[in-house]
Amino acid sequence: MPDSDPTTSSRPEVTPDERSKPFFEACAAGHLLIRRCAACQAWSAPADPFCSICGGGRLEWAQASGRGTIHTFGVVHHISHPGFRDEAPYNVAVVELEEGPRLNTHIIGCANDEIRVGMPVAVDFVRTTNGVVVPKFRPVAT
Ligand code: ZN
Repeated sequence: MPDSDPTTSSRPEVTPDERSKPFFEACAAGHLLIRRCAACQAWSAPADPFCSICGGGRLEWAQASGRGTIHTFGVVHHISHPGFRDEAPYNVAVVELEEGPRLNTHIIGCANDEIRVGMPVAVDFVRTTNGVVVPKFRPVAT
């Protein structure tokens, strides 16, 4: 369970569950996995319970290219949790992967005021303070 007690200053951390465990294990090994329909091979957004193309319910983890573009982003100046006090202003972004699904993430290796919609990015992996490795994205040359 994430730490949601606003009276503490420890920041909420990613905690893999049974369903997301393969994703985070792959991140730790340097691979980005996203789910793919076993029936029609369509890529699926992370939270979809069924394939949006054929309605199939068997979604399997498959390796993605790790490349994409910034679909949208914002810069957070007003923190909503004291655990992020030292990080504001920080960016939050939605990256559209080459395969189609979009991931909520952060852009690294780039000043917040240099981030642009449409910017090509590639995945990088960052270890959080609780040891879980998460995907973030950094700009790449075109
Ligand atoms: Zn399908």
